[in-house]
Amino acid sequence: MKNQYVLPTYGRAPMDMVRGEGSYLYDAAGRRYVDFCAGIATCCLGHSHPLVVEALCAQAHKLMHCSNLYGIPGQGELAERIVTDIIGIPGKIFFCNSGAEANDGIIKVARRFGHRHPAADGSPRYEVITFLKSFHGRTLGSMAATGQRKIQVEFDPLLVGFRYVDFNDAEALRAAVSDVTCGILLEAIQGEGGVNPVQPEFLRAVAELCKERDLLLMLDEVQCGFCRCGTTMGWKAICPELQPDLVSCAKGIGGGFPMGCFWVSDRAIDATGTELSSIMGPGSHGSTFGGTPLATATSLAVVTELVRGNYAARAARLGEQLKATVEAWHLPCVEGVRGLGLLRGVALKPGSFAVPEGQTPAGYVNGLCREAGLLACPAGADTLRLIPALNIPEEVLAEGLELLRGVLSAL
Ligand SMILES: *Cc1c(COP(=O)(O)O)cnc(C)c1O
Repeated sequence: MKNQYVLPTYGRAPMDMVRGEGSYLYDAAGRRYVDFCAGIATCCLGHSHPLVVEALCAQAHKLMHCSNLYGIPGQGELAERIVTDIIGIPGKIFFCNSGAEANDGIIKVARRFGHRHPAADGSPRYEVITFLKSFHGRTLGSMAATGQRKIQVEFDPLLVGFRYVDFNDAEALRAAVSDVTCGILLEAIQGEGGVNPVQPEFLRAVAELCKERDLLLMLDEVQCGFCRCGTTMGWKAICPELQPDLVSCAKGIGGGFPMGCFWVSDRAIDATGTELSSIMGPGSHGSTFGGTPLATATSLAVVTELVRGNYAARAARLGEQLKATVEAWHLPCVEGVRGLGLLRGVALKPGSFAVPEGQTPAGYVNGLCREAGLLACPAGADTLRLIPALNIPEEVLAEGLELLRGVLSAL
C-alpha cells in the first residue's frame, strides 16, 4: 500500500488485500488466507455473497443517494425486519453508518430522557454508567463512553457524563448510580475488551436497577448482535427475557457495507403512556448518509438472508464445535475458549510462551497465524479472537482451526 499520504492511525499487517470469496481473502501477492476475522465480525455472510452483491448492484443502477429529506422506501421495510425479526420488541429504528455513531445516538436519547425525567431537584440527569474493558467507538461521545483509558490518552478533556464500573460487579454498579444517572450502557459480550460475556445474574441486576431508579437500559450490540452469538441478538443468548430500552447496532447489519442503526423502545415511560421512542421527534437527530437507498437495499438483503437461513442457529452450532475442537487439543498455551456462537476468544495462558519485546501475547500469536495463512484478531492483550463469517463452510472452519493448531502447538 502506498501510504505516505494516509494518516498512520492503524498498526497494519504488511500485505494488501485485493479480493475476497466466501471465507477466503487474497492478498496482492496472490496468497490465500482463511478468514476468521471477517472484517472484525462484519462480513457475516462472507465476502462477495451473491445475494448481497446483486442487491447492491441492482440498487446502484436505480438510486444510490437522495437524502432523508425524502422517503426512502426500503428503510421502512428494513426497520420492520430489524424490529420484528432481530430485536423482537416493539420500537423504532434510526439508521446511521457505524457503531460509534449508533452509540452517540443512544447517548443522545438517554440525555434527552434525562431532561424529560430530571433529578428530584429538577436538574437534568445526564450521566451514563459504562464498564471497564468496554469498547463503544472512537468519536468524542463513544470514546468517552469506552472504559479503556488507552483509547482516550491525550484527547482530554473528555465529554462529561460517564462513569466506569467493573464489569459483572453488581455492588459497585449499585454504588455508582447517582441523582444524575440516566442510563447504563453495556455489551452483552465485550468484544474488543477480551470476549468477556456478561453474567446472566449481573444482567438481571442491571435491569432491576434500571427499573428501580428510572434509568435506561442501553445495550451495545454492535459486535455481538445480528446472529453472531447464536441468537438474533447477543443479550438473548444470555438473558432472553431482557427488555432493553436502547440498542445500538452496526458491523454485521451491513454484511460489509457501512451501515449502523439504533433501536428505541416503544415502551411507556410515564403514567400518561408517552413512548420512549416519541421523545426523538423531527429535528432531534440526523445523518446525511444514514440509511441511503444503497445501504438500505444491501442491508435488507443481508438481514433477510440471515433470518431465512437461520444463521443464528448455525453460529451456535459451529461455535460449540469450534470451542470443543480447540479445547480437545489440550495445549499448554491455551487457558480456555470464551464467548458464544461465533464470537470466540482463545484465552492464551500468560507466561506459557516467549513473546518478543514490545508485543502482546495476542498480537504475537495473531501475527504467527497470519504468516501461517489464518486471519484472526486480538482482543485485549491475552485473547485471540475468532470471528468468522456465519456462513463459513464447515470444511473451511476445520481448515482454519488446523492452521491455528499448528501455530499454537509450535509455541
Ligand atoms: C466496533 C465496535 C464499535 C465501533 O464501531 P465503528 O463502526 O468502528 O464505529 C462500538 N461498539 C462495539 C461493541 C464494537 O465492537
